[in-house]
Amino acid sequence: MPASTHRCAIERTTLKQISTFGSAGYQPGDLQLLRDANDDAAVARLLANCPVMRLEAGKAVVESNQAQLYIVLRGVLAVETDSNTGMADGNGSVSKVLPGESVGEQSVLDEEANLSRITALEDSDILVIEADLVWKLIDQSNVVARNLLRLLSFRIRAANAQLRTRQKLGEFYRRLSMNDGLTGLYNRAWLNDLLPRLAATAHSSGAPLALIMIDLDHFKRFNDTHGHLAGDQALRTAAQVLSGALRPSDFAVRYGGEEMMVLLPDTNGKLAVAVAERLCERMQQAVVFADMRQPLPHVTASFGVATLQPQQSEQDLIARADAALYRAKELGRNRVVQEDLTG
Ligand code: GH3
Ligand code: MG
Ligand code: MG
Repeated sequence: MPASTHRCAIERTTLKQISTFGSAGYQPGDLQLLRDANDDAAVARLLANCPVMRLEAGKAVVESNQAQLYIVLRGVLAVETDSNTGMADGNGSVSKVLPGESVGEQSVLDEEANLSRITALEDSDILVIEADLVWKLIDQSNVVARNLLRLLSFRIRAANAQLRTRQKLGEFYRRLSMNDGLTGLYNRAWLNDLLPRLAATAHSSGAPLALIMIDLDHFKRFNDTHGHLAGDQALRTAAQVLSGALRPSDFAVRYGGEEMMVLLPDTNGKLAVAVAERLCERMQQAVVFADMRQPLPHVTASFGVATLQPQQSEQDLIARADAALYRAKELGRNRVVQEDLTG
């Protein structure tokens, strides 16, 4: 459910005072922020007239203009961080505040408005401490000051952990968007991002860069004969052949359909042809589906090899590898052809 719909359903209300902290019978020491402060006369004096407010289940706190600290004495609050606070994913997050716990320390300390939405999950009694009074407590009680520091440190840790989780999630989705779903090879978006950089590095360092364009042979016929699902499996097998035969510094990409590409940094034409020959050999030996009642035939592929020439763009490099691949098809498929550098 979108957050805005959710919001409209909640009846907003102000808190209703039911007593003062001095007369409500709670021990300061039971509250995180006032831990070890049972015998602190200054704390008892400052909090004696502090209001204890009731918030009924399902109702939300309407913030006063002044920052306030809320300590839950009874019940449970839900604190929803507003999606407008600039959080990385644009989504609010909800946490529960249980008896003894507090919310709003940070907005009291930095005098920023509290952008969280505070709602009672059940009838709740809350000790409300105005910002001025929080500062007085800090000034007059070392115990409170220590507790507050401990609490903020805990909050920072929790926020950092949340940030790390989000970063990991972001990285996961980024990878997902860079890999082809069927074969696991890098996809076209990744290629568009990386190939210009590989070409620029090769041009500036003078190191060679080779590209092998690969196209499965008679793959339409394979699909027509054995079905599209078997075709998908053949594509996966072909991708495994490529990624299993390359160095960690090489890259295999699904260029589109049944066309794939291998990028070989620091590799000259002669070496790239040797790599392509090896791939061609392994491709025709690879077993597509071993445990079928009717084993599938092996697939073959044609290979076009090109290397980046001085002043050549990455588009030229692809075009030259593509032309060599076309020639391999013309010559009968299941073979490697190197670009013609004489023409
Ligand atoms: P050639 O040897 O000349 O390359 O012949 P071909 O049949 O491989 O070439 P063509 O371009 O005529 O056909 C390519 C086929 O690859 C047709 C298409 O259905 C199939 N194909 C492309 N992507 C996929 C896929 O993701 N899964 C499956 N199963 N087939 C695919
Ligand atoms: Mg094709
Ligand atoms: Mg083909």
